[in-house]
This record gives sequence, structure tokens and C-alpha cells, in this order.
Amino acid sequence: MSGASLLTALERQPADALLAVIGLHRADPRPDKIDVGVGVYRDASGATPVMRAVKRAEARLLAEQQSKSYLGAEGDQRYTDLLAEIALGPDLAASDRITGVQTPGGTGALRLGAELLARARAGAVWVGTPTWPNHEPIFREAGLTVRRHAYFDASAAGIDEAAFFGSLAAAAPGDVVLLHGCCHNPTGTALSPAQWRRLADMAVARGLTPFVDLAYQGLGQGLDADAAGVRRLLSAVPEALVAYSCDKNFALYRDRVGALWVQSAMPQTAVPVRETMLVLARSLWSMPPDHGAAIVRTILEDPELAAEWRAELEEMCARINGLRSLLAAVHPALAPIARQQGLFALLPIDGAAVEELRAEHAIYMPASGRINIAGLNADNVGRFAAAIASCLGDTAAAVTPGGTLLPA
Ligand code: PMP
Repeated sequence: MSGASLLTALERQPADALLAVIGLHRADPRPDKIDVGVGVYRDASGATPVMRAVKRAEARLLAEQQSKSYLGAEGDQRYTDLLAEIALGPDLAASDRITGVQTPGGTGALRLGAELLARARAGAVWVGTPTWPNHEPIFREAGLTVRRHAYFDASAAGIDEAAFFGSLAAAAPGDVVLLHGCCHNPTGTALSPAQWRRLADMAVARGLTPFVDLAYQGLGQGLDADAAGVRRLLSAVPEALVAYSCDKNFALYRDRVGALWVQSAMPQTAVPVRETMLVLARSLWSMPPDHGAAIVRTILEDPELAAEWRAELEEMCARINGLRSLLAAVHPALAPIARQQGLFALLPIDGAAVEELRAEHAIYMPASGRINIAGLNADNVGRFAAAIASCLGDTAAAVTPGGTLLPA
């Protein structure tokens, strides 16, 4: 066979479901269309702005950066170390059992962790149902076996704890359990302190390694509250991995800013772990892109910029939680939204209802019924709520554009 036919072995791939929603939304001429599909934070005007502290840090970098010469495979180590204090807290950040490197976004952190686990000959990687659609491919592409455990109870819009822990009973020593650190995507659920403890006990008793994906710190209940579960878990288990994304909480999405921390059972193991992380990173991306991490470092190094970043993140978090309260009051089936956290909620509607919302009300979301709560604002939340309430077969209440609840 001639070499020219090599690429004919490749097959067509399914289109990304969310990109299809974006395309349909873009092509819709209706002026009052609502996009709750794409998973980025939006302000009240629907924009995803550059954060104020980021703008100031960028201006500083532009004026002061002296070189763009190569860094190492670890990226900007000062960035990773300062970020460890935000993510893991000062005690774990100082642990000689934990080593971390900068990665291209949270996705890069997950992939590097997956490659490390494959090198370590990990067993199966357990992911919950549902989870972020990219989780399974990331682990599979690294050659790992992915298994699914129960997690979400759609009828109660909460975690089905009995089924969750029950299905994890099939996990074997050497297996890995992927957990969302906070603001679960797509369900908005959060593990309780007792559930984090139970997971830690199970990991210790059964020889499982937790891999925590922390992609939305600060967008649920606040920076420390959102990391409390991860920190409790790491303090209790011998080994764990944490993939971190700054792309949401610093709004640096396209700059691809993340980190991977790996906790080993003993300090001496952290050395080969780190060396392996660097060797793997070298062949994956050689070194991560610098600019976004340099922005985060610049912010975290300067107390004034850091305070400005924290204040804006708190504003974002408060906006999301305000919208959550409004939506939760619309219909009994939406009440759990107030108990959930982060950008996302999974509406109790089927694909036909999602389609009807698009056709009749110009409301755009993926077929799963996942909504990005930050896609709503004072002007459209009333119309959105009324459309969802009618979908749920009830118009018990409606929200006025100003956000006040009115009996229908
Ligand atoms: N984990 C989860 C749960 C996510 O939702 C996302 C982004 N949608 C990521 C990781 C990856 O984030 P990043 O854009 O930093 O790669």
C-alpha cells in the first residue's frame, strides 16, 4: 500500500455537542435569545470580562518583563508555589510529600496526572455519572481503563450517597477515584464534610488513590470553603493528585493556566514522582505557556492585587448565588438549585424539552439540560424562569425582570 493512503485509516468523529449549541445560538436572529450553554462566567451584561487585577498585572508584565526565554518543564515554579497556598492552604503547601508543576489549564493537569498514573500502572479510574464529558477521554487517551460509579440522583437533584459508595465497593486496590473538588460540573452538587471523610476512610481502607479536579475554586462558597474538602482529604490519605484550573477563577480561559499537585505517602517518593512529571510534561508540551501563569504570580505576589482579585471573585460568586436563589424559588423542582453551587445546574427536563425551549423560547442549552446559571441576568431571568416553569408543567410563580418573585 502506498504511503499516501496512511491517513485514510482515520474515521469521522462526532461533533462536539456544545459547539453545535453555540453555532445554533449564533445563527438565531431573535434579539432576546438566551445562552445558558457555554460554561464560562458571564457578568450582568452577558460579557466574560478580563478581571481588574488581571488587567493591572498584565500592564505590569508588559512594562517590566525582561525576557521570554524558555522556562523549564515545570513552568513558573513560583506561580505553582503561591497557588498551592490558595488551593491547598499553607500547611499542605509546605508539605515535603507534595510536589506540583504548572500545566496548560486544568485539562493539561488532568492529562499529566493520567499519564503519571499510567506510568505507575494504576488500575481503573472511576468517574461519576454524570461528569465533565472530557474526563473519560483524557484518561482513556493515556491508556487507562475508565469505570463509572453512581453519583447523581436526578429525582432528588442531589448526591445519591448510598449508590455512590455502593458502586465504589467494586473498586480494587490500585484504582483511582476522580472527584470534583467543588462546584460539580454538570450537577452543581458538592460533597458534604461527612462525605469527604467517608471517601478518605474508604481510600485508606481499600488502597484507592483520589484524584481531585478543582476547576472552580471560589465560585461556589468562597476560596477556603470550596477547598475545604480537598484539604481534609489530602490530610487523611497517603497518596492523592489534585488538578487545578485558574481558567475560571482568574477568568484566564484561553491563556490556559493550571497546575498539578501530587501527594506521595513518603517524602522520598516525591522525588521520583516529580522527575516523572517533568519527563512526561517534556514530551507532552515541553513547557507550559507562560503568560497566564505570570499574571497569576504577579497577582498573588502583590497583596493589593491579590485583594482586588479576591474581591472581584467574591462579586462573581455572589452574582451566581443570587441567580441561584431566584431560580430555586420559581418551581419546587428547581428548589435544589439553591443548595447547589457553582456555574452549573442540571435541569430535570428531557431532550425534547430542551429542543422546545430552543424552538419556542430561544433558550440554548445542551441536550443534557445543563445550564450555566451565569448566562442569566436581571433582564432575562424572568422570561427564562417562566419558560422553564411551563416546561415543568406549572406556572406557580414567575420572576419579574427586576428579580422579584410574583405569584403567577
Ligand atoms: N475540570 C472541569 C470539571 C471542567 O469543567 C473544566 C473546564 N470546563 C476543566 C476541568 C478544564 O479546565 P481548563 O479550561 O482549565 O482546561
